[in-house]
Amino acid sequence: MKIKLATFSLILSSALFMSQNTHANEKPFAIAIHGGAGTISKANLTPELRQAYKDKLKEAVDKGSKVLEQGGDSLVAVQTAINVLENSPLFNAGVGSVYTYDGGHELDASIMDGKTMNAGAVAGVRHIANPIDLALAVMNKSEHVMLSGAGAEEFALTQGFTLVANSHFDSDARYQQLLDARQKLQAAQKSEQIAGIEMNDLDYKFGTVGAVALDKNGNLAAGTSTGGMTAKRFGRIGDSPVIGAGTYAENGVCAVSATGHGEFFIRYQVAGDICARVKYQQKSILQAADEVINQRLITAGGSGGVIAVDHRGNIATPFNTEGMYRASRSNGEPAQVMIWQDQ
Ligand code: ASP
Repeated sequence: MKIKLATFSLILSSALFMSQNTHANEKPFAIAIHGGAGTISKANLTPELRQAYKDKLKEAVDKGSKVLEQGGDSLVAVQTAINVLENSPLFNAGVGSVYTYDGGHELDASIMDGKTMNAGAVAGVRHIANPIDLALAVMNKSEHVMLSGAGAEEFALTQGFTLVANSHFDSDARYQQLLDARQKLQAAQKSEQIAGIEMNDLDYKFGTVGAVALDKNGNLAAGTSTGGMTAKRFGRIGDSPVIGAGTYAENGVCAVSATGHGEFFIRYQVAGDICARVKYQQKSILQAADEVINQRLITAGGSGGVIAVDHRGNIATPFNTEGMYRASRSNGEPAQVMIWQDQ
């Protein structure tokens, strides 16, 4: 009986050890996505629309997480998740892109590979349904990092992309937002307040999309895709295609995708600054991202947020606006899908 008990406890402890060991040997993987930050008022978002946003975010994060779970590359997970959001009219990217001041659409996107420090970006493209795919092609198939406008589309043709009409991105809801923004801009122009106009004054609808991921091989990647800001003029380019501003990834450090008032994100190098704090000051991703979004940017007057993941799979999603559409999944655990701070 004594032997049996001893054998039993040996089996039990080795089983426990094995399960702990298996857990320790499992490589962490994680993904976070966003669908834009801004004035997302609880009162204005009907329960149906709220559900529609949450369902689409969940679909995107689930598809990205599946890539990682199956041992796929973080770049593929990022592209997969972003494609889902670009193909939904709910978000300001791909088919849901906002209007420029002149009533057209100009899209920006970028992607970065933390393993190689390679990056690809496109700015001001007018005929590309999924700009993140073209950003990836720029990274992998050209000797450049950022291509813009007609040149980017000429390159797209050499890579087998099909160009779509600019009207592919038209929608009544976005057009109404343009009319409202134009009116407010014209009023500000009259009172010569144009340079100091706050994006909140214009009730700008953000809605850029982005994803960051850590795969089982420890590779970090980040990507961002957007229609930019409603009523943007003169070929304006925001932070989303700017590496270090809207997108950044570096293995062993972190991956970041931003959304918000791009002019601030460019000037404050938001994505790069967060990773620099992690790298050089040994700050946690939570602290670094919080400092930049909730201290530095707030002091500057810049609104928006980021999603960030570090090389261990820790995720931070700070924002200084009313809400930020976002979702995350770590190690295949169920998805967390949120819009406001508390829900
Ligand atoms: N950051 C984007 C831009 O400035 C806008 C957004 O995030 O919604 O173009």
